[in-house]
Amino acid sequence: MCLNLNSKYYRSPKKILSKLEKFEVDCLVVGGGVSGIAIARELSSRFKSIFLIERNNQIAQETSSRNSEVIHAGMYYEQGSLKSKLCLMGKELLYDYLEERNIDFNRCGKYILSSTDRETETLNKIYQNGVNCGLEDLIYDNTASSKYPFLEFKEAIFSPSTGIFDSHSFIHSMSRDFQGAGGNIILGNEILNIDESSEGFEVLVEDKNTKNQFLVTTRILINSAGLNAVYIANLICEGNMHKEEFVKGEYYTYKGKEKLENLIYPTPTQNSLGLHATIDLGKGIRFGPSAYVVDEIDYNFSSDKKSLFLKAVQSYWPSIKEHDLSPGYTGIRPKLKGESDFVVDSGVVSDNQYVNVLGYASPGLTSSLALAIEVSERIEDAK
Ligand SMILES: Cc1cc2nc3c(=O)[nH]c(=O)nc-3n(C[C@H](O)[C@H](O)[C@H](O)COP(=O)(O)OP(=O)(O)OC[C@H]3O[C@@H](n4cnc5c(N)ncnc54)[C@H](O)[C@@H]3O)c2cc1C
Repeated sequence: MCLNLNSKYYRSPKKILSKLEKFEVDCLVVGGGVSGIAIARELSSRFKSIFLIERNNQIAQETSSRNSEVIHAGMYYEQGSLKSKLCLMGKELLYDYLEERNIDFNRCGKYILSSTDRETETLNKIYQNGVNCGLEDLIYDNTASSKYPFLEFKEAIFSPSTGIFDSHSFIHSMSRDFQGAGGNIILGNEILNIDESSEGFEVLVEDKNTKNQFLVTTRILINSAGLNAVYIANLICEGNMHKEEFVKGEYYTYKGKEKLENLIYPTPTQNSLGLHATIDLGKGIRFGPSAYVVDEIDYNFSSDKKSLFLKAVQSYWPSIKEHDLSPGYTGIRPKLKGESDFVVDSGVVSDNQYVNVLGYASPGLTSSLALAIEVSERIEDAK
């Protein structure tokens, strides 16, 4: 048997006989990160038989567990962009969900600092953009200089609705919602190929533990495969125009004695929001993520980048020394070349509907519940 029958996540689908064992479902979601789980949860009330297939033996082992766990307020993203829309809506939905389910979070707020006149110009633009996007709580606020005398900066804005949360409990809670509504999560199985037929998309799956292969036929296919999403999009529809770009980030843990109650962000750079100081729910401090383009998915640290990292942190926290920082973890942003927005690309092939979630980097955790609604609406639109 190909499916992970031992898994508590498995429930029997309708079987069809053929050479390879075949299973027929109404909807198949590829990828068990935050986006796939949120989408599957949202769709579970609409479809009788819905599968989520994840290649790792557990959910959320890739980008969804290698990030800053920040609930973003939404001041950075271009007005009218999908990022702006999903972040603002997702933030509200997320806070409500966390409160309702008693999942840990801290609406700690964050300062964004400028260190040069040019950065102050950028800071002013961020403030104005936030206001234009509908953020009502953003303020100019230099109280960080008295609260944190070790910081050095010219100007600062404060965002009270930025927060941190326990993203693991959040994702696991959504996966329980999905299964409670009758959805199936199949772990340790990888999508290898996708064909179309009159019966629907024919998806070839391999059980990574036994190497057995089987087919899943579905009319609706959701691609939320994170760093692998462009590859899967090309299997669905050859000639997809998007090219992926992996932007790696490293985090270092702070070992010094200073404490923070808020998040401290520098002015953003082109590829990232800047090397920020984030607190976790236990008030530990970590710095990161850095940002550099890589060709492959490799989560090891590159020690030659530590001095640049240190310099970036010292631009707003000059007393930090190299021995204050020890390697934490790394993550890789699933970006698209030449595209700064999320791309939710939906369409129909031979009466079969698909949705690709591409370039789903930050603020993807914050936006996930809103993304799920967006994807669900796309499916309705394509009917
Ligand atoms: C450094 C960094 C910091 C970030 N910080 C924040 C933050 O503070 N706040 C915020 O809101 N967002 C943040 N983000 C963004 C957020 O982490 C991502 O948007 C989100 O985790 C992406 O989730 P995902 O489900 O799309 O991808 P993933 O978590 O990567 O999940 C995709 C899944 O698809 C599976 N998969 C791939 N191919 C196949 C296949 N062929 N068959 C079966 N399964 C497959 C993978 O195994 C994986 O589990 C950050 C991202 C990075 C990299």
